[in-house]
Amino acid sequence: MTYPKRMLVENLAWSDEINNRDPAYFRRLASNQQPNVLWIGCSDSRVPEAITRAMPGEIFVHRNIANLVADNDDNLTSVLEYAVTALQVEHVIVCGHHCCGGVQAALRPPVPELPNVNRRIGGIRRLCALHTTELRELPSFEARVDRLAELNVLAQVQALHAMPLIQSARRPVQIHGWIFSMLEGRLKTLTDTPWTANRNAATEAAMG
Ligand SMILES: [Zn+2]
Repeated sequence: MTYPKRMLVENLAWSDEINNRDPAYFRRLASNQQPNVLWIGCSDSRVPEAITRAMPGEIFVHRNIANLVADNDDNLTSVLEYAVTALQVEHVIVCGHHCCGGVQAALRPPVPELPNVNRRIGGIRRLCALHTTELRELPSFEARVDRLAELNVLAQVQALHAMPLIQSARRPVQIHGWIFSMLEGRLKTLTDTPWTANRNAATEAAMG
């Protein structure tokens, strides 16, 4: 059986299970969405928002390589705009992860076969250059990847705080920076800046 075929079979079983347990579930699901959270994560197959046991309807999602936030990325900004303005989410979570391939790539020479990826991770290369001293002191390449993934989350949180969409949001939005420790299967908080007048200063403090 091909993997897509297996996905369709699994979907049948999943929808039957839910229908048997709660016959009104899909009618409720179809009527509206009121997620409380926007999740900005990495496209990595090992880090779906499902690691929080979230159910359909609970999390609005944007994922890209290395969970990047850029104000010239129409995909990101349209998702953010809809989440903040239309859905009025209360929380935006930037979730990076250890063992991130996008971050690893930023610590290695560019690969000619991946020009789009190279362009996307340019900001992580610059971040790496900013933190060369700290990263060099770490004992292994893996440790540098994991620390740079954390610094990358903090940088994306800072980028979010600077975006007009967040600054002018009618409803206060709390921005969270999380890292998924893959070896432990645990999510950890890197920063939890409340939406306050001095939020940029608070983020800079979290950046160290
Ligand atoms: Zn990743």
